[in-house]
Amino acid sequence: HAEASDRPTRIRVDLDALTHNLHALRAKAGAPVMGIVKANAYGHGLVTVARHLQAQGVEQLGVAFLEEGIALRQAGVRVPILVLGGIFGPQVAQFIVHDLEITVSSLDKLRQVEAAAEALGHRATIHLKLDTGMERIGVHSYNAGPFIEAAVASSWCVVKGVYSHLACADDPASPMTAVQLERFLDACTHFERIGAPMPLRHLANSGGVLHFPETCLDMVRPGIALYGVLPDPASRRTVDLRPALSLVSQVVYFKVVKAGHSVSYGATWTAPRDTRVVTVPIGYGDGYPRALSSRGDVLIRGQRHPIVGRICMDQFMVDIGPQGTAYNEDDVVLIGRQGDAGIDCESVAIAAGTIPYEILVGLNDRIPREYR
Ligand code: PLP
Repeated sequence: HAEASDRPTRIRVDLDALTHNLHALRAKAGAPVMGIVKANAYGHGLVTVARHLQAQGVEQLGVAFLEEGIALRQAGVRVPILVLGGIFGPQVAQFIVHDLEITVSSLDKLRQVEAAAEALGHRATIHLKLDTGMERIGVHSYNAGPFIEAAVASSWCVVKGVYSHLACADDPASPMTAVQLERFLDACTHFERIGAPMPLRHLANSGGVLHFPETCLDMVRPGIALYGVLPDPASRRTVDLRPALSLVSQVVYFKVVKAGHSVSYGATWTAPRDTRVVTVPIGYGDGYPRALSSRGDVLIRGQRHPIVGRICMDQFMVDIGPQGTAYNEDDVVLIGRQGDAGIDCESVAIAAGTIPYEILVGLNDRIPREYR
């Protein structure tokens, strides 16, 4: 990575912040944690984050796809891993071979998993996915009885968990969460009714942990909060969370733009006065959203300055003002802190017209990650 690490643009991940958030969320939930590390650990780096969480005692990890689970097993990660996404026929055996826990979201899928397990002569560990209001994947909770019975009766599947996903937990005022919790608990009574042991019941994402303690049940599945970021600007900071990710770059060019001269593609921004403009070498090709064109801010020398003109694929420009000082190689903070000033991921998301999740997972592999 010699070439990549010479790049002035980088993501810094504070592993102590992850540790802090893991312990804080576990304490708040009063339940074991399935750390969600899908989508490259929300941009923080899948393998390094997973290894760190494992070393810090995370009880379980969750990923979206089989391939993410295999990458973790190949990197030597040993904690239980649940693949949250759907399963695709030809892949089923791979879950079992790589010791990955399977989300089973229909009777058909249960039969597929059983067939694969029987063919391998190795039982599959599964979590039953119930739909309580997302209408995404999962058996409708009001029809879950036969599904639960079939899974419990299966000699090739071990039902380790039963779960559902909350649609509105990022909004503390939404009545939807209570409805989903009630539907979920009601479906779970089927286990008692048929005299089967109750598997691990898990429901809460970050919003659930932050706002709805009653959803925490036997295990919680925080993603974004583990990284120290709120699921929504409307979320309440009920847990002391520390942002783990900073995005930094450096000034690579300094110039004066004369009044009336425009900046960048489309000439969408014109200097209202002679002003000093610097260029920063990161763009939408790195996943820094083009939607921040003339809308985002950065920190240079502890001061907040506006991005002007369109963000290019690899660079953008910043107006530091007629008297602004900045030199080549000055640090530029896009997300994170500089002196007393800070730009958090939540405010970047608002400026870009999106959610913090999309900002984090959008930051791609062109940006080197540094861990400390
Ligand atoms: N559980 C499931 C099933 C998910 O799909 C996700 C992410 O979307 C999470 C948990 C984690 O969500 P969050 O990042 O909001 O905590």
